[in-house]
Amino acid sequence: MMNWLISVADDIIGLFYPRICGGCDSHLLKHESNLCLICLHNLPKTYFWDYDVNPVEKLFWGRLEICSACTFLHFEKQSVVQDLMHRFKYEGKSGIGTELGKAFAHILKDKQWFSDVDIIVPVPLHFTKEQRRGYNQSLYIAKGMAEVYDVKVWPNIITRVVASDSQTRKSRYQRVENVDDVFWIENPSRLKGKTVLLVDDVITTGATLEAAGNQLLKAGVSRLYVATLAIA
Ligand SMILES: [Zn+2]
Repeated sequence: MMNWLISVADDIIGLFYPRICGGCDSHLLKHESNLCLICLHNLPKTYFWDYDVNPVEKLFWGRLEICSACTFLHFEKQSVVQDLMHRFKYEGKSGIGTELGKAFAHILKDKQWFSDVDIIVPVPLHFTKEQRRGYNQSLYIAKGMAEVYDVKVWPNIITRVVASDSQTRKSRYQRVENVDDVFWIENPSRLKGKTVLLVDDVITTGATLEAAGNQLLKAGVSRLYVATLAIA
C-alpha cells in the first residue's frame, strides 16, 4: 500500500516537475535518473580500461607516481560530452556528474580496477571559484564513484590555495614550475598508508592532477590512482 502511494505521488510530482534527461531532454523513465539509457549507451567511451597501458597513464610518466589511471569519455568540441559537461559545470546540473561517475565506476569495478581503494579525493577548486560556481563539480563525480565502490569521499583533505585560472594560458613547462604550491594538505597524517583515488572532470595536460597527486604522495599516500570523466 505504502509503495503504491509513493509511486502514485511520484507520478503526480512528475506531471508538474517532469524528470528530463541531461543529455537529450527526453522524459526519463522511472528507473532512470539524470541521464536516459540511450544517452548513457551512446557516450563516446575511451575503453582505456581494456588497455595494458593507456594514454592517461602515459601522460603521467616521469611526472607522477601513479599505480594506474583511467578516463571514461572522449571530450570533443560540439559533442554530447561537451553539452553534458557544460550543463554539469555551469548550469547546476550536479546530478549529471554523479550519474556519469556511477556509470564509470561500475565498468571499472567490473574490470577489477582500483579494487583496493580506501578513499576518494576530488580535485578541489579554489575557494573563490567554488563560491562563484556554487559547487565543485569533481565532488559530484567522486560521490557517484564512491557509491559504487562503497568508500568515503574526503572532499576537504586537500585545499587549493592558488587560483590558477591564468595557468591555462601558459605552456606546460611554465605550468609545471609553479604548480607545486597550488595545493595544500592541512592534516597529512590522516592520509598515511592510504590507497587514494584522485578524481577530476577533464584531463588535458594533467598538470593539475600532477600537482595535487604529488602533494598526496608527499603526505604518505601508499598507492595513488587517478580517474577523470573525460580526456580532451
Ligand atoms: Zn538522453
